[in-house]
Amino acid sequence: MTAEDVLRARMSAGQVHTSGPQYESAATVWNAAVVARPAVVVECRSTADVQASVRACRELGLPLSVRSGGHDWAGRAVADGGILLDLRPLNRVAVDAGRRAAVVGGGARANDVLAAAEARGLTAAVGTIGTVGFAGLALGGGYGPFLGKYGLAADNLLGAEIVLADGEVVLANASRLPDLWWALRGGGGNFGVVTSLGVRLHAAPRITTGPVWYPASDTARVFAAVAEIQTDAPDELTVQTGVLAGADGSLCALVWPTWCGPADPDGFLARLGTPLASQIETVPSYAAEIARRDAMFPDGRSVTIRTRSLPALTAEIGSVLASAAEARTSPLSGLSIHHFHGAASRVPVTDTPFPLREDHLMVEVLGLGDGNDDRAWADATAAALDRYALPGAYANLLGTDVPSAEVFGRNSGRLRDVKHRYDPDGVFRAIPLG
Ligand SMILES: Cc1cc2nc3c(=O)[nH]c(=O)nc-3n(C[C@H](O)[C@H](O)[C@H](O)COP(=O)(O)OP(=O)(O)OC[C@H]3O[C@@H](n4cnc5c(N)ncnc54)[C@H](O)[C@@H]3O)c2cc1C
Repeated sequence: MTAEDVLRARMSAGQVHTSGPQYESAATVWNAAVVARPAVVVECRSTADVQASVRACRELGLPLSVRSGGHDWAGRAVADGGILLDLRPLNRVAVDAGRRAAVVGGGARANDVLAAAEARGLTAAVGTIGTVGFAGLALGGGYGPFLGKYGLAADNLLGAEIVLADGEVVLANASRLPDLWWALRGGGGNFGVVTSLGVRLHAAPRITTGPVWYPASDTARVFAAVAEIQTDAPDELTVQTGVLAGADGSLCALVWPTWCGPADPDGFLARLGTPLASQIETVPSYAAEIARRDAMFPDGRSVTIRTRSLPALTAEIGSVLASAAEARTSPLSGLSIHHFHGAASRVPVTDTPFPLREDHLMVEVLGLGDGNDDRAWADATAAALDRYALPGAYANLLGTDVPSAEVFGRNSGRLRDVKHRYDPDGVFRAIPLG
């Protein structure tokens, strides 16, 4: 029997695809450079479907991949010649407003979580982009505009239902399977298929945010001023930055602050000088704001990503970033920089696998284009930042083509032990553990 036959015998009609629109929709992910083709796509509509699919993969000896939001740029969601578990039907979000908590399906996107939470006057620690899968984001960490206020998305998890490599379904939380629970909050999709997550929600604050654009020639000056503000920014202010193409296509320095509370109480923006353009506004909800961010990162482009974590945006580093961006080989390539501080930095480093708990800036080097020169530019930019970089790498944005032994730092050994206990045969190969 073929894999298709085996799976059709175990699933309901219409759940198993080897071609056609559902197959293409699952196999096509955010990064157009991902060309892998799974042998079979299984639409998982329940935990039982996930269990049956995992068991079938094991029996057939085929590689398995898990697809939620499809935003892993390296294409880990698509196992070439293997079985792709499409979790997108598992996108239900049930909010318990009294407990300020939600149960989030393993295939829900950040936008689904925000919509459900904000309908009840609550919000969630999500990333910058709403179309990213929430589980994918949170299992690997989850940088975003609320790092200072709420920490990583992973820091806001309360529990998980997970299908393990043998098809068994278990619950993991602070009191059940604490070793697995530890590993899930930053160790990525390495331990099983998460069918739902318990997520802590927060009373939705008033949010003031938006992009402010400066000439690229001002990057070093603007970043040095931002660095002063970031050094003692309150938890309520997280300042994302970048060097990216502005509305007219020309390269610009970008400052994108997010205040949870009163708008710019310390006159932050005045200290940065006169911008080319500013779209700062107080928004009714983060869901309203995130659509603007989603529009900046549409599906269907070919992308190479590298990351480096830096201690601060000094003028010297600002100059290096500006020169690197100027040297880009494609007009849409650039740099996007997360600001890690506040609540995220106060979590002890061994409380979760996430390896870097000191204040830092995580630089995403975004090489847009499918030419070798775009990849070479991304590599050269990362190399130029090496002398300033903190150790480690961001698990969620790892390439499959770069050495990753140092990703989890001092948490690597413990993470490997948990992997060995729960997935000794390496069924889940999402993020290498070094
Ligand atoms: C445009 C863009 C913006 C981004 N913005 C941010 C950001 O602001 N902050 C940030 O931290 N990261 C960001 N990322 C990175 C993103 O968080 C990771 O790529 C994440 O893994 C994507 O999850 P996904 O479900 O969309 O991806 P998929 O490609 O569907 O899944 C990627 C992998 O995650 C694992 N996974 C996903 N769901 C599950 C599950 N339910 N159970 C077990 N494993 C699972 C699997 O190993 C899977 O192969 C961004 C990526 C892109 C492309």
